[in-house]
Amino acid sequence: MLLLRLLQKPDRAPRFGRVLDDEPEVVELLDGDPLLGGRPTGERLAYTPQQWQEDPDGSEVELLVPVVPQKIIGVGSNYRNHAREMGKPIPAEPLLFLKPPSALLSPGRAIVRPAGFERCDYEGELAVVIGRRCHRQSVSSALNYVLGYTLCNDVTVRDLQKKDGQFTRAKGFDSFCPLGPVVSTDFDLAKAAVQSRLNGKLVQDGRSDELIFSIEELVSFISQVMTLEPGDVISTGTPAGVGNLQPGDVIELSADGIGSLFNPVVAGSALPPLPPRS
Ligand code: MG
Repeated sequence: MLLLRLLQKPDRAPRFGRVLDDEPEVVELLDGDPLLGGRPTGERLAYTPQQWQEDPDGSEVELLVPVVPQKIIGVGSNYRNHAREMGKPIPAEPLLFLKPPSALLSPGRAIVRPAGFERCDYEGELAVVIGRRCHRQSVSSALNYVLGYTLCNDVTVRDLQKKDGQFTRAKGFDSFCPLGPVVSTDFDLAKAAVQSRLNGKLVQDGRSDELIFSIEELVSFISQVMTLEPGDVISTGTPAGVGNLQPGDVIELSADGIGSLFNPVVAGSALPPLPPRS
């Protein structure tokens, strides 16, 4: 099953929906959040995620981020080939950081690239969505707390990541967390591959079996520190092939069983200088 959120015109009220495996071209609308027991209302519409993302203002339906997380946990250097390309050692334990929910960006909407930086990189990642409260769980039970999987673009100003020595500013700009287009609840993790295409050209191709720390290890590890709540997102790290986004680009992440997440890139303003310190 695929779970999603959308806005239907003209009323534009956010709605939850689901796409069942035996009817992959139809969205059934729900009367509420499926994490809180939302049930089908009987309303149905055609599932055309590509069309909706290509023209979110012009289409009858706009896709929204498929869940509303309290927190988005990122994992640094979780693919050997990406650690190598960044000149970083293979980590002995997961390196965690947080992206603010204010950075979330709906499918089809534009990443705003702040001006004045050399590198504003895409990072295509498989993301885990938590289905029920998860506190201090073992590796062997961790997957019982997972609702499903989606795609996350962990957009990063590389200059600021290096300059600041931590990730809050570099990964925290508004629009730096495209997420979606759907949550797949029966995603085949064993064969999962996440691909990124920049203006149609394949630039990243990562398989989940190349993760240094597995999904269940990450969920368990994080849950020892912070309680994971339904809807929380863990973005599991990016494979090799990260690269710079420029205004006018389109970045697309895709995975079999989830679909494609498209986002154009537009130019933002530069950060204003700080006033001089006296
Ligand atoms: Mg990342």
